[in-house]
Amino acid sequence: MEPNRNDNNNKKPEGGDQPKGRMATALIITLVIVLLFSWIFNSISQSQYTQTTYTEFREAMEAGQLAEVELKYDRILYMTKEEAAKPASMQKACYTGMPSGGDILALANELVDMGVEKVNYEIVEDNSMIMMILSYAVMIGGLFLVMNMITKRMGSADGMMGGFGKSKAKVYMEKSTGVTFKDVAGQDEAKESLQEIIDFLHNPQKYTAIGAKLPKGALLVGSPGTGKTLLAKAVAGEANVPFFSISGSDFVEMFVGMGASRVRDLFQQAAKVAPCIIFIDEIDAVGRSRDTRYGNNSEQEQTLNQLLNEIDGFEPSKGIVCLAATNRPEILDKALLRPGRFDRRIIVDRPNLQGRLDTLKVHTRKIKLSEDVDLRKIAQATAGAVGADLANLVNEAALRAVRQGRKAVNQEDLLVSFETVIAGTEKKNTVLTDMEKRLVAYHEVGHALVAALEKHSQPVSKITIVPHTSGALGYTMQMPEEEKFLSTADELRTELRTLVGGRAAEQVVFGIQTTGAANDIQRATSLARNMVTQYGMSDKFGLMSTATVEHQYLEGQAYMDCSQETAAEVDREVMIILDAAYAQAKQLLTENRALLDEISEYLLVKETITGDELMAYVNAARKPELEAPAEETE
Ligand code: ADP
Ligand code: ZN
Repeated sequence: MEPNRNDNNNKKPEGGDQPKGRMATALIITLVIVLLFSWIFNSISQSQYTQTTYTEFREAMEAGQLAEVELKYDRILYMTKEEAAKPASMQKACYTGMPSGGDILALANELVDMGVEKVNYEIVEDNSMIMMILSYAVMIGGLFLVMNMITKRMGSADGMMGGFGKSKAKVYMEKSTGVTFKDVAGQDEAKESLQEIIDFLHNPQKYTAIGAKLPKGALLVGSPGTGKTLLAKAVAGEANVPFFSISGSDFVEMFVGMGASRVRDLFQQAAKVAPCIIFIDEIDAVGRSRDTRYGNNSEQEQTLNQLLNEIDGFEPSKGIVCLAATNRPEILDKALLRPGRFDRRIIVDRPNLQGRLDTLKVHTRKIKLSEDVDLRKIAQATAGAVGADLANLVNEAALRAVRQGRKAVNQEDLLVSFETVIAGTEKKNTVLTDMEKRLVAYHEVGHALVAALEKHSQPVSKITIVPHTSGALGYTMQMPEEEKFLSTADELRTELRTLVGGRAAEQVVFGIQTTGAANDIQRATSLARNMVTQYGMSDKFGLMSTATVEHQYLEGQAYMDCSQETAAEVDREVMIILDAAYAQAKQLLTENRALLDEISEYLLVKETITGDELMAYVNAARKPELEAPAEETE
């Protein structure tokens, strides 16, 4: 919809003046780009819309027919309720020009008052005027001087190029989000913390009457896709107040002062419709610490100051609540976190088993499921997945059902789409030689058999040698019986042996080593390293920690935090642990060689076998030795 948007956020801090020659070249290039964009914009963008007159737009608005409106500095895009009710592919939106001198904010307000559900508008800076003048190619010289002056006076933080055509920050205003806590699965603690805010928005007087100071803001902290935006929307929905949202990165602009004026506009706008929720996504983009450790510039600093001012400035009794989301709370400026600002921190965790099950339920509410669907099984298999992954999984499953011409989603759809998300779609046309296939089969059974024979392992649920697009030629899936938050040292050692079990089988049976074990080796190594450096599970270092974890809410990367000599010793210790695990796995497989052969041959024929089939073999082999029937591995 917006081909003229130019999103390069190059933020190199750089001082004042630039040589005249460079500026002139920059100006010419800018001109060409602007003209090109306006041409593209005219020929492509508008052809998708029906053109109407402004009067027609007003009429539709006054008749209450509008469903969605998007206001831009020069035009209005809108869709009537009649169109919005049609299926997405058949909808036709309209556009009309924005009358010159039209006040976007006033119009946005009017639309909200008229009850239009979705109003999006852009905060427009004055240089959009400049853009218009520019596109008519008048006053180039004058403009050049003005630009030059501005850049000089404001001590521009950036080169000239990023400035033109990139003057708009998107603000989404929704009168009612239509999202409630029912749509957010799990996250009970977060919901509880937010409940008070909702209560406050319903009835600010109740709090102010006692003299209680209410939180002005709360910080939602959690990994991407855990539902922070969803929660913020649900708060607005529960409190039945308008929802403003903007992304922190939209504040970061070329001209010093521009981000700050945007913040000001946003809060002014919000004050008009208060009580309401302001949601700032990725607040770390503006709110990163002002000390130079993480690098910043004066533009960001001004924007942050303005944000702090606004938050301090508004009367809590007005009922504006500012919610912000981040996955890097550690880089935020301390000033943002002070009492009276974003002093509440609400952790939005990755969902546990129950949370995942609930999320699956929420997302399958509107989907026809066949009788055989067991969502609990899917929830068990998806440990570590966030809400967004699960939403994606359900959608994939529904698409698969449609592709196969079925009326309802069945368990297989869900399982296959889970594998699509985890391992890429099944790649039917990868042709392996017979020898390769044997190797893969033995490798996978190696993993599975070690797991099956060990005491502390997670049960195997599936072994397959059907190649996947992710590059895996086969895999062994282990499924925990229940959610686990702690692992014992024994369990971790078992996991290590299981991980190297694949390579051990290759070695024991064929006496060769293949590249197929690369991923296993990587995972085993990092597990062994964590045991030494973080979990205090090595003989040599005991309880000494030698690594620090940063960015806990992102990947949780650990950095070595010790002297170089110690680091070298850690490496040696890791090697010892891995060697031991490998030797034990080899021994276990040698002792059970007959079983290994038997299962591998079976897998070669069937290509995919279940955990139950595997256990049937294992138990049958055990019976002669043990009197009592072996109990299912836990
Ligand atoms: P974040 O803002 O944390 O990155 P979002 O709120 O944008 O994540 O979540 C993306 C999508 O994932 C949501 O639109 C929703 O469909 C799904 N989702 C995430 N968490 C949940 C949850 N707890 N319950 C239901 N759906 C969820
Ligand atoms: Zn493997």
